[in-house]
Order: sequence, then structure tokens, then C-alpha cells
Amino acid sequence: MNRERLPYELEASWKEKDMAGGETVDAQVLIMRTNGCCWAKAGNGGCTMCGYRSASLTGVTEEDLNKQIDLALSKYKGEPFVKIYTSGSFFDTNEIPESIRERIFSEYSGCKRILVESRPEFLTSNLVSTLPGTLTVALGMESSDEEVLRTCINKGFTAAQSKAAGELLKDGGIGVRTYLLLKPPYLTESRAIDGAVESARFADPFSDEISINPLNVQHATVVERLWKRGEFRSPWIWSLIEVMKRLSGTVNSRIMSSPSGGGSQRGVHNCGKCDHDALAAIERFSFTQDPKDLEVQCECKSTWERYMQSERLLGTADDLGRAFGSDLMIR
Ligand code: SF4
Ligand SMILES: [Zn+2]
Repeated sequence: MNRERLPYELEASWKEKDMAGGETVDAQVLIMRTNGCCWAKAGNGGCTMCGYRSASLTGVTEEDLNKQIDLALSKYKGEPFVKIYTSGSFFDTNEIPESIRERIFSEYSGCKRILVESRPEFLTSNLVSTLPGTLTVALGMESSDEEVLRTCINKGFTAAQSKAAGELLKDGGIGVRTYLLLKPPYLTESRAIDGAVESARFADPFSDEISINPLNVQHATVVERLWKRGEFRSPWIWSLIEVMKRLSGTVNSRIMSSPSGGGSQRGVHNCGKCDHDALAAIERFSFTQDPKDLEVQCECKSTWERYMQSERLLGTADDLGRAFGSDLMIR
């Protein structure tokens, strides 16, 4: 039986490692329950890969949000880094009213670093001038290709808007972490790799960090429908490694990735045998930025190469492995 999702409880919280001030530190991660992403609720279906619509609540009050903060503080052990996610936009006052935002910044004022996420339309110069210097805002730009944003992702904002928000934040002395989506639906693996690399180069001037997020198939999404029909394959881990290798040493931002669902059919995956090692390599590189950390060996690397050749030959982004097994892939 599903437990009722109470509006005054946190959706989730955990501890993990991340970087603050150039060193690896402990981070408290909070997912707050709010009234949900305005775009997911706007009646246009939201982003094609996002399952947050089915997760969002209505009628979450300030009192509920204050109780969530009390709960978060009761679990707080002085971690230097705190990440506060809402499955939407921290700066949308329908999710986080101003008074709650102020309380969060004041309760965590001793932290070295605070991270929140937002759609770009909520960032104004007035708002940016009130933000603490320890803050980093994560912008879900996903891609610099306006057509991919519009037709593959249904993002509802443009890359130009993300760029403007990123520049505003940078000018205001606020950190920027840009999220890029590796393999939006309808793109082949090789087009997805090229797109992620181009997007990272576009985002680099206004970002401090670029997080490459391989698509993870979430419930009740457009992508899940495609995936069930064999019309989408989550990216190979080799593709993620390739993006990181191409970017390594050529951008100023820290390149990172902490894939959700990695190693599963819904998440970024290889053959199954090397997934653990390949994901560990990505995690290492995310901290060290040393391309030597990306060296992984497995015979499925040649299958991945043949997979991409087959996609090109057939002109399709369908899941070739699922449709034909490995037989159809060029040898
Ligand atoms: S990906 Fe972000 S902007 Fe898009 S619907 Fe989900 S929460 Fe909203
Ligand atoms: Zn393998």
C-alpha cells in the first residue's frame, strides 16, 4: 500500500559528497515537497522526460514548509554544503514563498555552499541582488539547440533565456551549475553526444560547473511511452564517457555527472558487466577532472561503436539492441 504523501514531510533527504571551495566535502541533500513545478502543471504536459508532475502536491502551506525545514534542521550535522531541491523552481514563490526562502538562507547562513534549482524565468536582477554569495543556482538548460528544447524536450524556455539568467547570476557573484540532458528523445546516440558537447561549450562562459545528466526513464512520461515501445534507449555509459573526454581540458567549468538509475535499463547503461566500473570512473572524474580516470575496458565498447554506425545507416533513434539484438549491428 502506498503511504500517503504528507505535505509537511520532506520528500527525501540524504548525505553525499560534493565539492565546495575546491575541496570534497559532505553535503546534506533535501528534496522538499512543494506545490510543484509551474511548467509541469501548466497543462502542456511539462518536459517530456520529467516525472515530477505525478509527484507534485497541491495546497502545501507555509506552515507545512516550515515543518519541513524544522525536520531538515533536525537532521543537519553541520555539513558545509546543503542542496535544497523542490522538483521545480526554488525561486517560484508558489513553491517557496519569500519568507521561507529567507528562513532557509538564514538557517543555513553558516554553510560554505548552498545549491538550489530554478527555471530561468524566475531570476531577475532585483532577486539576484538579494541572494547570499554562498549560493549556487542550478539551471536546467538541457541543450543549447533551440529545436531540441522545443520539439524533443518541450522545455518551455530557450537556451538564450538560460544564458541570460546564467550571466545575471555570474555578474551578481552567484555560482552557476548548468544541467545538460544527455540523449533527449528522438536523437541518435551520436547526435546526443555531439549535442551535449556543443551545449557544454555554449554554457561554459556562464557556468562554474556543468552537470551532464543522462536521461533516466521516469514513470508516466512521454519518454516512458517511447521506451516501452522500443523507440528509446537510455544512453550508453560509453557516450557519457565520450562527452567527458571531449570536454576535458577544453572548458573552464568543472564537468561532472551523478547519473540517477545508472546501470539499469531505464538509466544510462552498458552491457551490465562493466557498468559498475564505468560509473565509478565517471564519479572519480567528476571530482578529479583527470581524463585518466575515465579509462575503462570492456568488450562492449565495440558493440557501442557498431550501435552508433547502425543508427546512422538505418536513420533511426529506436532501441536497436531491443529490436534486433546485436545481429543487425554492423560488424
Ligand atoms: S524538468 Fe524541470 S522544468 Fe521540466 S517539468 Fe520537470 S521540474 Fe519542470
Ligand atoms: Zn561492457
